[in-house]
Parts: sequence; C-alpha cells; structure tokens
Amino acid sequence: MNHFQKIAGQLEAHHLDAMLLTGEANRFYASGFHSAGTDGVALVTHRKSYYFTDSRYTEAAGRHVQGAEIRETGPGRGYAVLLSEAIQEHGIRRLGFEDAYMAVRDHAAYEKALKCELVPATDLLWALRCVKDKEELDAMVAAQRIAEKALEQILEEIRPGVTEKEIAARLQYLMLHFGAENMSFDPIVVSGPNGSLPHGVPGDRVIQGGEFVTMDFGCICRGYCSDMTRTVAVGFATEEMQRIYQIVLAAQKAGIAAARAGVSGKEVDAAARSIISAAGYGGYFGHSFGHGVGVEIHEAPNASPMNDKALPEGAVISAEPGIYLPGKLGVRIEDVILLTGDGCKNLTKAPKELIIL
Ligand code: ZN
Ligand code: ZN
Repeated sequence: MNHFQKIAGQLEAHHLDAMLLTGEANRFYASGFHSAGTDGVALVTHRKSYYFTDSRYTEAAGRHVQGAEIRETGPGRGYAVLLSEAIQEHGIRRLGFEDAYMAVRDHAAYEKALKCELVPATDLLWALRCVKDKEELDAMVAAQRIAEKALEQILEEIRPGVTEKEIAARLQYLMLHFGAENMSFDPIVVSGPNGSLPHGVPGDRVIQGGEFVTMDFGCICRGYCSDMTRTVAVGFATEEMQRIYQIVLAAQKAGIAAARAGVSGKEVDAAARSIISAAGYGGYFGHSFGHGVGVEIHEAPNASPMNDKALPEGAVISAEPGIYLPGKLGVRIEDVILLTGDGCKNLTKAPKELIIL
C-alpha cells in the first residue's frame, strides 16, 4: 500500500512543486514503509517520488517501498544533500513541508540548506488521510477484530483481586498474540474511583466488587490503528452505576445516529452531548465526542464542539462520550464508525449493553 500518487495529485491545487515528508506518520502513509522517528525522508514531486534512508533500512525499504526511488544517505551525504540534488533535478521552487510535525531546529537547517521556498502544507496530508480507501479500511477492521478478541478473553479474567496493571498487561499480550503489530497507544485501564480519570494510567489498584472497570485500548494492524472502550461492572452494579451507564450508552447511540458525511463535527458532538446535559451531567463530559483514527490514533477530523466543518465521506471517527464523577466513578463507551453519505457504518462489533461480570 502506498499513496505517493494521491499526494502528487494534490500538489497543483496547493501551488506546490513537491512535498517533503519527514514525520513518521506521513512518511508511512506515503510509502507504506515504517522507519522509526527521523530515520527517513520522502519527497513527492509531480513526476516521481523518492524515499531517502540510511543503510540500516535500505534493504527493508527495497522490499516494501513501491512507487518511489530509494536513495541511501552516507558520509557527507545527509538528507539535505540528497534533497538538494532532487530539488535541482526537478527545478523545485515551492516545497511543501509538515509544519505540524517538523521540529523548529530541523526547519531552520532545511531552510538554510535547501535552495527553495518551504511552504507549510500539513493540511494537504491531513485532508487526504481523512478519507480512507479500501486497503486502509481493511487494515483498520482487522485491527478492530483483534482488539475485540482480546476483550472477549479479558472478560473471562476480570474479577475482584486483579489489578488494573495486570489487566492492561494481559490486553497488550492478547492483542499481540492475536496478530497485532503493536499497540495504538498504552491501554487505559481504570477502576472504581479512578474511572473518573479519562486518560488514567493503570496502577496497582486492586479491583473490588461493585465497581466499574473502564478499558480503552487498540492495536495496529498493517500500520493502521483501532480504538475502543468498554466499561464493565464487577460483581454487581448499584442503581447509580446502572443509570449513568444507560445515559452514556444513549448518548453514544444518539451521536452515532447523527453521524454522516456532510454534517459538521460540532453537530455530531451536540447530538450526544445534549443527552448527557439533559440528564444533568453536562459538566461531567469534558472531552469531545470523537476523533479521527487512521495511521495515527488521533487525527483529523474531530467530532468536537470546535469543529464546524462538514465531516468528509470515508472518514473513520471514534464515538466515545463519557461521564466522569470525580473521586467516584466513570463510564465511557467507544466504537469507531465509518462515515457514509447517508449515515455511518459501525466498525466495532463488540456488544455494549452493560456487562456485569
Ligand atoms: Zn480510545
Ligand atoms: Zn478514542
């Protein structure tokens, strides 16, 4: 899988002669090849694309990068030199760069070394990455199925006496065991009063009966992320726990019902938020309804009160409202959905009625 052509196809509309990709995520999106951190640079021109890397990656890049010429760095021939050669070869005057990813120091160095204008152009990549093609969707669904298998197994293992950390460790093991390449992010496992921390770190807290356990986790398959959250009760659920769970579930379903291409992120968020507010918990849902998911776990577009732009067809976003009562409990339920012209398709298959283990 690679997207060199797609990127090249957008250069003219952005008044660019070429696009420089230095960040890990966009480099992977362009080439389908993953090299860590700053260990690679891709250059997309109208006629041709390049993948520059060092000798540690040349053989692997040769196997995986298609649609680009691979050139290797060497002593006295760093990325700036290789780029300068290509810039001259193609007469590049306006070179797009990833202003949302490039370090200030690197920008200064490139500005000094390259004889062309550097133009901020992260939006070109983000707009393309929003809309998933079939191969990308297949990878995301595969990642989602792996996470769901891990969930099924972990539900057998959650009982009073186990710790948050043990559950998080098992989830990681299970996802790798079922075929994940890596985690999308470190799993969040929070229990009881810790549940009010939306991004809490799993600790040594021992789970007890009558508590919620919230698990937010995902894995990477063929370079693409999954993301899901389930909140389950252990032993029993008090009347308050059940009531709050049902409010969050109703809000999540309302947001999903409102989600489709052409509707703004703000409207989707509002559909869910209004349910939580009407139930009197508006002050306890601090984050937004959803975020884009893809090569990165958080990417465009957002279903948030701040986004009044229309959501594009083919975008995959999370649907994850929550209620967090400080020092008491928290509930979040998260699926990922694919936006279509007349609604959305839920890519998450795991049940979400309240489970009491
Ligand atoms: Zn999540
Ligand atoms: Zn999420």
